[in-house]
Amino acid sequence: MKDIQLVFSSLSPADSIVITMHQKPDPDAMGSSLALYHFLKNAGFNAQVISPTNWADFLKWMPGMGDVIDFENSKDHASEIVQQATWIFCLDFNNLSRTRFMENLLLKSAAQKVLIDHHREPQLDVFSYGISDISKSSTAEMIYDFIMSSGKSDLINKEIGTCLYAGVMADTGSFRFPSTTASVHKMVAHLKGYDIQHSKIHAAVYDNFQENRLRFIGHVLTYRMEILYEHNTALIAIPKSDTQKFHIKTGDTEGLVNYPLSIQGIEMAALLIDRDEERKWSFRSKEYFDCNTFARKYFNGGGHYNASGGRSLDSLEENVAQFKKVLKEFSSLQQ
Ligand code: 5GP
Ligand code: MN
Repeated sequence: MKDIQLVFSSLSPADSIVITMHQKPDPDAMGSSLALYHFLKNAGFNAQVISPTNWADFLKWMPGMGDVIDFENSKDHASEIVQQATWIFCLDFNNLSRTRFMENLLLKSAAQKVLIDHHREPQLDVFSYGISDISKSSTAEMIYDFIMSSGKSDLINKEIGTCLYAGVMADTGSFRFPSTTASVHKMVAHLKGYDIQHSKIHAAVYDNFQENRLRFIGHVLTYRMEILYEHNTALIAIPKSDTQKFHIKTGDTEGLVNYPLSIQGIEMAALLIDRDEERKWSFRSKEYFDCNTFARKYFNGGGHYNASGGRSLDSLEENVAQFKKVLKEFSSLQQ
């Protein structure tokens, strides 16, 4: 993978640039993609943002959202754009499998693929250029660095600042995780110069749900959360019947996995959701539990040290049993 510094000067106005992200994008994936989109357009390039799947309602306010293509929803049109692309920017994911049904198309594409990401153990062999830096708070921060080193930082505007702010805000847990470095605060101070409305951005992401979502959270915390005190762990396993009953849609379960971490002594929280096609895991830890290795080793996933995800085709019950078994094994390995 060649240095990211070589990319901007290699782009030409004749290029067709695609920007893509992981499936079911979060504010960092979508915010960094849209910020790069606005920047490249401002710089005179042709760019198109393609999300592998649909996205949560709490992202719909983002500037430029109306131009984003949902791959699953417009497969033929989106595939044609990917096939014609000369550059493909892959943001906020470490493995092409995170783009779900776009994976094969991306693998086959002759475009130069550029990785900009902060997850562990990236699939380096499929990218021709890029940067992978796990010390970065967010992909949004890395897009900011990309823009700052392009020589065109004068193209930053309120739209770019707003999208970057949303990404870094979400991935730092509203500026409280250890990844919130002085550089993050300096970047935010710089972006504040473009009149970004930080309180409104926070409210648009976190105070924008329907009543059913809060009632659903109450229900699952009461009836579906199990505390495994001997492992300082909490497990929430949500059956299909719950998500159906409360009309839960994309984005409604975002953040739910963090609730048990507010319990004194709980070091790790796991959330398992029965989706139609698979069972989806989320893992979060406060400090010493290595969520990335745990997800990678047992649940076909990965991510960061304190936040990871995984998936399985086994039933909900089988997953719960497997979790309890491997948690014991993993805890003894870590000691
Ligand atoms: P979440 O629990 O919000 O879905 O994901 C937490 C973190 O783990 C995110 O940084 C996400 O990119 C990563 N992650 C989630 N699911 C998977 C997965 O199936 N595979 C890999 N490699 N990473 C995942
Ligand atoms: Mn991210």
